[in-house]
Amino acid sequence: MTATWRATVLTLFPEMFPGPLGVSLAGKALASGLWALEARDIRDSATDRHRSVDDTPAGGGPGMVLRADVLAAAIDAAELASLAPKGRPRLLMSPRGRPLAQSAVMQLAAGPGPLIVCGRFEGIDQRVIEARGLEEVSIGDYVLSGGEIAAMALIDACVRLLPGVMGKPESGTDESFSDGLLEYPQYTRPQAFEGRQIPEILTSGDHARIAAWRQAEAEALTRQRRPDLWALKASQKPPKNTTKG
Ligand code: SAH
Repeated sequence: MTATWRATVLTLFPEMFPGPLGVSLAGKALASGLWALEARDIRDSATDRHRSVDDTPAGGGPGMVLRADVLAAAIDAAELASLAPKGRPRLLMSPRGRPLAQSAVMQLAAGPGPLIVCGRFEGIDQRVIEARGLEEVSIGDYVLSGGEIAAMALIDACVRLLPGVMGKPESGTDESFSDGLLEYPQYTRPQAFEGRQIPEILTSGDHARIAAWRQAEAEALTRQRRPDLWALKASQKPPKNTTKG
C-alpha cells in the first residue's frame, strides 16, 4: 500500500485549517483517512522573548517581512516531524510564482503531497526561498493578504483527484482543463425551467451524438472565452494522417 497523501502547511494562522477543507468531499475524505493535513505554526520556531517572526524590510519600504531564520527552522522542524517521505515538493504560495494549472495539480496529486509555506505581510526573505529550494506557486494575478487561502485552493484541487475521493474516477478527467478545453454546459431536471428546455439531444439517449455535441460545445466555449487555451491546444495537436501505434 502507498502512503497517505499528506499536505503540510506552515502558517502563522494554523487555526484557519482545515476550514473549508473540513467539509463536503475533501472533509469526508480527510475524516476517513484518504489524505492527511498538518497545519504547523511558524511562530513555534521563533526564538526570541517576543516570539517575533517578522522584521522591517532591508532597504526600507512599507510593511514587514517574514524572517529567513525563523522560517527555515519551521521548515526543518516540519520535515523532521512529518510522516511524509523525504524529498517531497516544497512550495511557497506567492503572487510571483508560476500560475497554478490543472497539469501541475495532477502531478502534485500523484506524488506524496507537498509542504506548503504561506506568506503574510509583505512576503518572506528571499534567502530562505533559495536556501530551502521553495518553488513559488501563484493562484492568480491578484494579491491576497496571506498564503492560506491560496494553499487551500491548491490542496482542494489536489484532494478531489485522489483515488476514492470522487465518486467516479472519470469525474477527474472529463472536466475543464483536463483535455485543454473548458467544460461543456451541464443540465439537470426539471426539463423546462422558466421556459428554457434542456437541449433535446441530451435527452435522446444517443450516446455518440451526445459526446459529439459536448465536444463541439466545449470547443466553441474555449475558442470564445479562452483564446489562449485554444491556441495552445491547436499548437499541440498531432499532425493529421498519423495513426497511433
Ligand atoms: N508584497 C508581495 C505580496 C505579499 S501578499 C508582492 O507584491 O508580491 C502576502 C502573502 O500572501 C504572500 O507572501 C503569499 O504567500 C500570499 N499571496 C498573495 N497573493 C497570492 C497569490 N496570488 N497566489 C498565491 N499566494 C498569494
